[in-house]
Amino acid sequence: MQYRSISNVKVSLLGMGNMRLPRIEGQPESAIDYAKAQEIIDYAYAHGINYYDTAYRYHGGQSELFIGEALKKYPRDTWYLASKFPGHMCEHAGGGVLHFTAGLAGWPDSTVDGVFNEQLRKCQVDYFDFYLLHNVNEKSIDMYLDEEVGIVPYLLQKKAEGKIRHLGFSAHGTAETIDRFLTHYEGIFEFVQIQLNYLDWKLQDAKAKYDVIVKHGLKVIVMEGIRGGRLANLPETEMAKLRAIRPEDSAARWALRWLQSLPEVSVILSGMSTFDQIVENVDTFENYEPATPAEWEALDDVANAMLSWVPCTACRYCTEGCPMELEIPKIIAAYNAVKNGENSAKYPLEGCDPSMDPTRCIGCGACAGICPQNIAIPDIMEQFAGMLGE
Ligand code: SF4
Ligand code: SF4
Repeated sequence: MQYRSISNVKVSLLGMGNMRLPRIEGQPESAIDYAKAQEIIDYAYAHGINYYDTAYRYHGGQSELFIGEALKKYPRDTWYLASKFPGHMCEHAGGGVLHFTAGLAGWPDSTVDGVFNEQLRKCQVDYFDFYLLHNVNEKSIDMYLDEEVGIVPYLLQKKAEGKIRHLGFSAHGTAETIDRFLTHYEGIFEFVQIQLNYLDWKLQDAKAKYDVIVKHGLKVIVMEGIRGGRLANLPETEMAKLRAIRPEDSAARWALRWLQSLPEVSVILSGMSTFDQIVENVDTFENYEPATPAEWEALDDVANAMLSWVPCTACRYCTEGCPMELEIPKIIAAYNAVKNGENSAKYPLEGCDPSMDPTRCIGCGACAGICPQNIAIPDIMEQFAGMLGE
């Protein structure tokens, strides 16, 4: 395993993301298959992965419970746990109370202290090694800057008490928003987690975000390095270009080797859902071979061919609140395939699973406000339904 550092802490370059754990077949997002997921964690731990990332909302609130249970059999000082404060899902309801807004019906109102202590309890820990504000973006930044809510001062107090060892934030916002936030809190944060991969380097301006973080002297943690699996399954035309250079390598290995070549990246998170994925990823980080300049060029060429794709990362935030129970990320994947001529077979509406039928979308918009990629989901559903009608 390769290691890098954040504030003198030696962290594994490959980190275990806990947002896409294996689920029990046919069950909702929250139904983590504990046996399969534990097998993945055990393999990760045995192969030197020491960074485990979760968040309040992952798997409908169940991810923290799982990872706390999965890691507790290992000595506490041999792994690092990162979780996130869900300010992007909250509104200030007055009197220090936070009201959850982001599509998780039935979640109780709480306080900053209430949320933080609930997270410690769920994860079965006394402290978080790494703790992040979740998703600083154009909508949530005011919440995080709001002095009356006092999220950052509260977390600094927890850091002083030793309940947080290292403080950072994740961001889906623009480079300008990240810069504004870092400038406001200069000297407070130690790292920033951003969506970074060779496609988003251009598609979502990730290069500018990386440069801003480095300008502030901080380390980068990568999320969506394989874009929710999308970069592990390239169209055959693009895969052929890469195969011509390294015939044995998978598309996922190409994406990870590209990330390894960025010097200020300290952890590359991968939300591994299957045992095969962790075996392959560990192998990629044990046989460390960062991408060469010529390989960067090849991936740049692949990225150029994919810039028109709808940038869904299959995070599934949108599915929880869809009244029609549509499999939104799968429908978008099908839309991309049909639109780009990748799937020559007809998309058979007749007899298709209702959850895969875009014509059932009622345009309520419950999904759109929550999408971290800002995808106009109802418009995509309408367009796809129209295309299929034709
Ligand atoms: S707009 Fe369509 S896809 Fe989005 S939540 Fe409503 S029904 Fe579901
Ligand atoms: S449409 Fe947006 S919220 Fe839904 S899975 Fe894709 S990226 Fe996530």
